Amino acid sequence: MKYWIRRLAIYKIISSQVEDVGHSSFKNIIYKLGASLARDLEFPFQINIEISRACNYNCPFCARTEADLSGNHIDFELVKKIVDEATYLKKPTLFALHMWGEPLLNPKWAKTVRYIKSSTTKHSVTMTTNGFLLNDKNIESIIKSQLDQVIISLHTFDPNIYKVRIGKDIDIKLIEQNISNLLQSVKVQSKKTRVIIRLFLSSEERKIQADKIQYFKDKGAVFEFDLYDNSAGDRKDWSEIEPVLDQVKRWPCYHPWLTATVNVYGEVTVCCVDSKMALKIGNLTDIKLGSIWKGELIKDIRGEHKLGQFSEKCSICKNCDTWVSKPDIFFK
Ligand code: SF4
Ligand code: SF4
Repeated sequence: MKYWIRRLAIYKIISSQVEDVGHSSFKNIIYKLGASLARDLEFPFQINIEISRACNYNCPFCARTEADLSGNHIDFELVKKIVDEATYLKKPTLFALHMWGEPLLNPKWAKTVRYIKSSTTKHSVTMTTNGFLLNDKNIESIIKSQLDQVIISLHTFDPNIYKVRIGKDIDIKLIEQNISNLLQSVKVQSKKTRVIIRLFLSSEERKIQADKIQYFKDKGAVFEFDLYDNSAGDRKDWSEIEPVLDQVKRWPCYHPWLTATVNVYGEVTVCCVDSKMALKIGNLTDIKLGSIWKGELIKDIRGEHKLGQFSEKCSICKNCDTWVSKPDIFFK
């Protein structure tokens, strides 16, 4: 039964309109229902893999610089080990290629996607990129590798604000052209790869940029509207959630139940914004992911989230507001 629920939940995530997640009561109930069912204490439903820690951008809101930057790309054999375990256990899994860094900088990114997709058709792969390297060669590889979803963190369509958000003097027209080329290739080749553009806009900015949003919707893009959070307490100055945090009653963060994140070194944390690996629950060089996911450490973390009381073990959760970005997965 769990097998089919996992498959269905992955399908819903890969095919739904993500625009309003967290912004409407009805969609929150659907999300809660799906997330409750997809919860699997035997093996993580979603595995985030940091395939590269290198980055060609310098976004000021990003806590990547808080992490140990000596790592570069993940060892392909390590990725194989994770995928093989999921496949062996017959656990359809959503692999998300992101943590810190730009995944397209890893020369083996396409090989990684192909490996996951060829292991079993039941796994899905999503990748988050800043879009700068979406050139013809990489677009062709996206199509051929059967990547299920590409999320482009664009932030805004305003050229001047864009430069501030990415910390670089890059013309947004280049990224817009890359996205158009990707959408065109997906359409011409009748592929299912879903292209999501992630924006961080105020309601006023959303109105001003409505034409541009519609232009890309007409080309087949799906939009996700997000808020900047404080990134597990590392980027308080950027948070758009903190000012309204006292109006929200705390619920358990979805991460300890649904996602495991593996960094470039093979260390496992429950959280993709855990820059200092404060929520480290194991290391894949010593032990399998399934055992880590069933271990005492993660059980303790889940317990603290359920109670809403955080000890030293979960100290970063105490000052974090990232949990608000996904609705409560529990019905009570
Ligand atoms: S947010 Fe992404 S693109 Fe920006 S610096 Fe961080 S890892 Fe790089
Ligand atoms: S509360 Fe914050 S730091 Fe803790 S697991 Fe959730 S997102 Fe990560």
